Amino acid sequence: MGRVEGSAVKEGGTRGGPRGYARLEGAIPIVYTPGLEERAAEVWDLLETGASALSEILLVEPPELEALLVADEDREEAPRENERPYPPGLPYFTRASRPPTLVLPQTLSPDFRPRTDATEALVAWHELAHAFLLRDPMPRSPAWLRELMPQALSAAVARKTGLPLEEHLERIKRGQGLAVTYQNRADAEGQMAFQNLLLALGAAAVDEFGDGFLGRLAHALWREQGIVDERQAEELLAASLGPGGRDWLGSRPEFQEG
Ligand SMILES: [Zn+2]
Repeated sequence: MGRVEGSAVKEGGTRGGPRGYARLEGAIPIVYTPGLEERAAEVWDLLETGASALSEILLVEPPELEALLVADEDREEAPRENERPYPPGLPYFTRASRPPTLVLPQTLSPDFRPRTDATEALVAWHELAHAFLLRDPMPRSPAWLRELMPQALSAAVARKTGLPLEEHLERIKRGQGLAVTYQNRADAEGQMAFQNLLLALGAAAVDEFGDGFLGRLAHALWREQGIVDERQAEELLAASLGPGGRDWLGSRPEFQEG
């Protein structure tokens, strides 16, 4: 908080964002529904912190990107690839507009769990990480790897910026392995369990190996031409972790059967 005063606020409508929306300049400019000034300032802080930390971790400049903070009642007007709007309260990254846009809801869906002081930040950094990773073409890869990257990156940003994660991680329910959790992700609760398992795994990897593996993994994926299958995904992850990476992954409960 408090870093917003220096940035320019002006009426939107000329570039990026519907007419009448307001705009906050920054590393990631924010276009927002008038009336959401306070939430816009919070989001602005999260994206500034997130963009600079992600740049350092991934060794790339922030992508060309805007954030659109949308009032709940204007949700259907937000840019998106699909014809039908997403369920309420889901942030997403879209290339349906120029520049590409992070669409952030006024109110986060209650499906995001656990709810702690870290939830809002982790969700915003997750979507921002997707935008960073998609700045260059990514090969097709297993869903767990595609979502592990932004989950581990948001945990890494938290570690780098001093946002405490302990309470959040403690409240994540554990039990099943990656394979079962992956299969059970049809509904919102299953999807959250899948994401939370990847957050726990990502945070543990960052604590064990430092955040350098995320840059190595991202650059390895950007170099990859073909499709990355299950076996290659595990190999790339293990190699990016560095010495001991393979044994460590083998010892993790997420990679055990059941
Ligand atoms: Zn995601």
